[in-house]
Amino acid sequence: MNGGKIWDWAWVRALNGDMEKHEMEELEMRLQQHLVVYNNDVWYWSSSEQQCFNVKDARQSLSNQLDLNEQAYEFVWNKWAPGKSLMFVWKAVEEKVPTTTALRGGGVNLQNVICQTCGAAEETAAHVLLQCNFAKRVWEEIVKWTKIPAANTEGNLKELLQELNDLQRSRKMRKAIHAIAIQTMWTI
Ligand SMILES: [Zn+2]
Repeated sequence: MNGGKIWDWAWVRALNGDMEKHEMEELEMRLQQHLVVYNNDVWYWSSSEQQCFNVKDARQSLSNQLDLNEQAYEFVWNKWAPGKSLMFVWKAVEEKVPTTTALRGGGVNLQNVICQTCGAAEETAAHVLLQCNFAKRVWEEIVKWTKIPAANTEGNLKELLQELNDLQRSRKMRKAIHAIAIQTMWTI
């Protein structure tokens, strides 16, 4: 309008918290710098000079944020446990399930992220599935049932799964106990 730009927003809801306000300011700043042209839009890989996609550039841009030489965590994809349970635990191990703590970390405005079951700690995946009083009771019963020495409920999910894999049992028995653990977490 008159050689300038006016943005007429139609958001579904009002901005929520400082983080969103900051993001909005950043967006407006970017849009001010952006030159709108009347050509057709095209997709391209922004870090590539040739405006095309290649694996080398993808790797390059990843390596700016990640250590690509770091050993990846090897999650045991135990076929004796249902796929949905494995998928859930695989994400829970990395705290990538939508607990209130994870949602807050992702910018959702939540005042209270304390565990609703025990009220004693923040609701993380490791807490809900392992460290919470309720989870501890469940694991005690699993330990009795499977006759394993103990489940370390003070550590994290990665350590628990590792310990189960290191049990002095036959391969098949370890696999069964591992599947039970996966399914236990899904059920909790
Ligand atoms: Zn709790």
